[in-house]
Amino acid sequence: IIVACFFDATPKPDRRGFLKVSDQAFVTLATNDVYCQGALVLGQSLRDHRATRRLVVLVTPQVSNLLRVILSSVFDEIIEVNLIDSVDYIHLAFLKRPELGVTLTKLHCWTLTHYSKCVFLDADTLVLSNIDELFSRRELSAAPDPGWPDCFNSGVFVFQPSLETHGLLLQHATNHGSFDGADQGLLNSFFSNWSTADIQKHLPFIYNLSSNTAYTYSPAFKQFGSSAKVVHFLGSSKPWNYKYDPQTGSVLEEGSGSVSQHQTSFLNLWWGIYHRSILPLYENIRHEDEQT
Ligand code: UDP
Ligand code: MN
Repeated sequence: IIVACFFDATPKPDRRGFLKVSDQAFVTLATNDVYCQGALVLGQSLRDHRATRRLVVLVTPQVSNLLRVILSSVFDEIIEVNLIDSVDYIHLAFLKRPELGVTLTKLHCWTLTHYSKCVFLDADTLVLSNIDELFSRRELSAAPDPGWPDCFNSGVFVFQPSLETHGLLLQHATNHGSFDGADQGLLNSFFSNWSTADIQKHLPFIYNLSSNTAYTYSPAFKQFGSSAKVVHFLGSSKPWNYKYDPQTGSVLEEGSGSVSQHQTSFLNLWWGIYHRSILPLYENIRHEDEQT
């Protein structure tokens, strides 16, 4: 047992020679090629900040082969999840609650039992500095939601894969649905004592700062906003919906007068990574195609 523990705790080099803890992972989800763009920038931002855990993306069958090839140059592991073909109890939960399709897909992260602990990040998040310290937290750790701080925001959370927990979550989904129709409502009613039980499970807000919330406590934003470690582009306008001018390094704000200064700078960061590190991956594939 001691030998096994020793090996598990020893980081192993990945393809690029980085040392990684092999039984812990950062996990995201993309159910289509559009959300893959977000996953790619997130994965690249984790790499840029020398993440020491494995990078995993869950995809559904809708994700094209081209995107899978590109994802594989950023992520260590691509795992296809398919609600319809999955084990019977998932199938049942899905049939009873078809409106929770993407939500139930996100819950698949609990089935990654080859990892002892994981950090889930929405595909619309961007990492601004190393966040490996999150692995010292326990399930279920998350940051308050800016719209209702007694609920956690489910865009960033620490969890422990377990088929038992997965089954209980699906049972909860079948019996109670979700009060907001999505994963956040379901997870908050399942981990219902989050707001009061253990302050260690409250992640600091800088691990899930929403880029487009108008923070009404502006002195706090001035004081702490610059120490943000994870930005979350939550809501309907995602970074990939904007146009970007690589010459100026800035997104174009056509008619969208409501975009604030700090939101613009986060969008520019996202697009900077997309332009510098993700678009060239498409170019490489085109060149490989031309040579064969
Ligand atoms: N998602 C996806 N495909 C979709 C919608 C959502 O893959 O069509 C995944 C993706 O990882 C996304 C997460 O589910 O980041 C949660 O959805 P979203 O971020 O759009 O919700 P919000 O954070 O804006 O509430
Ligand atoms: Mn999100």
